[in-house]
Amino acid sequence: MATKKKSQFNRTGLYYFAVESRQSDSSLSRKSIHDVIISLLPRWRSMSLISKKPYEDLAKQEKRLRMLNNENVDTPIIPSSEEATFIETNCQENLFLNEFFSSNLREIYHRDLFFVTFQIFCRTDDEDGGDYYPAEMAIMKYSFAQSVREEYFTIMKPEKFPLGYTGTVIDLSRQTHQIPPFDFIGANGDYERIWFEIERILGQIDSKRKIIIFCHAFEREQTKYLLNWLASKANRSSRKKVIFEIYSFEALVVAVLRRLGIGDYAHQSVREQLHRPVYTLQIKERCVYHQSLAIQYCARVINNGFRLFLDDFVRQRFLDLLPEEKSIVEPMKSLAIGRGSRFVVPFRSPSDSPVFVNNIGRGRSSIGFSVSSR
Ligand SMILES: [Zn+2]
Repeated sequence: MATKKKSQFNRTGLYYFAVESRQSDSSLSRKSIHDVIISLLPRWRSMSLISKKPYEDLAKQEKRLRMLNNENVDTPIIPSSEEATFIETNCQENLFLNEFFSSNLREIYHRDLFFVTFQIFCRTDDEDGGDYYPAEMAIMKYSFAQSVREEYFTIMKPEKFPLGYTGTVIDLSRQTHQIPPFDFIGANGDYERIWFEIERILGQIDSKRKIIIFCHAFEREQTKYLLNWLASKANRSSRKKVIFEIYSFEALVVAVLRRLGIGDYAHQSVREQLHRPVYTLQIKERCVYHQSLAIQYCARVINNGFRLFLDDFVRQRFLDLLPEEKSIVEPMKSLAIGRGSRFVVPFRSPSDSPVFVNNIGRGRSSIGFSVSSR
């Protein structure tokens, strides 16, 4: 509903090229997108098809997404049992989060929130166990007062895929994150280390306390499964079991807006906002691997989309009600922009050389889009 405002130009490949250029080139950053497009037009016309392709792909993806959204709007849906469960879960989330955010506003403004995003190679069918095979993970500690406090992200080495899933794995990788599923040297198989980093960011894990994690609504089950899987992989027989409670980012935003007295929005409207290129593109926030690929599927980018959404959209509403926080916010804000937060690069690609995606088997187009733009 909120995205009805129509822009005056088509979201073509050129548009995405202009958005990226404006983000990376400070001389363009103050110009309107329309002016940037006009000034880049001659360069765009002289670019090769290969170098245009990532932007054309983004335009296609966006168009498909819009079509799907429209389809959802126009078709009255009879909920399946799965959808009914989904709606039911959302209602329970609302109740829980009303309680979770019932304390005073200043406390909520300073509270640490945790975002966890996984990308996967596949989920096996229920009759095969319904297991998830991870490809990438990212965790972020966030507060309204300080924005990103800490983050960690890594490409993950999956365990051996079960028989019969190779095709699914290759397809999913190709259509989404493009992380090579087999023998990828950049993949991190040190699960104990990954768990250590997660624990470090979560801080003191007290077995009695439930740990609240936020992720996309459609990934709640996946996130819970993979966090528990990592915890068990880390082989800490001495430790008591950690209990993760997973809630959707959509519900988080809606609950905070409710708490701020702004209104009661649909979760869907948060999802629609998150699909906007400003949240999905985030070229500077891509992980080392996804930096060289012009695709929006990067776990780190997804967490940073959450961050940007809260920084942009929700924080100002807090400040309207907590004017005394304004004076504290400014210096911290610049700290966050200046990458003051600590993050760990998951692996070093040999001397910044482009990362090649050879073993997905995409033939010629697998040259990837190497980091030559600098
Ligand atoms: Zn990534």
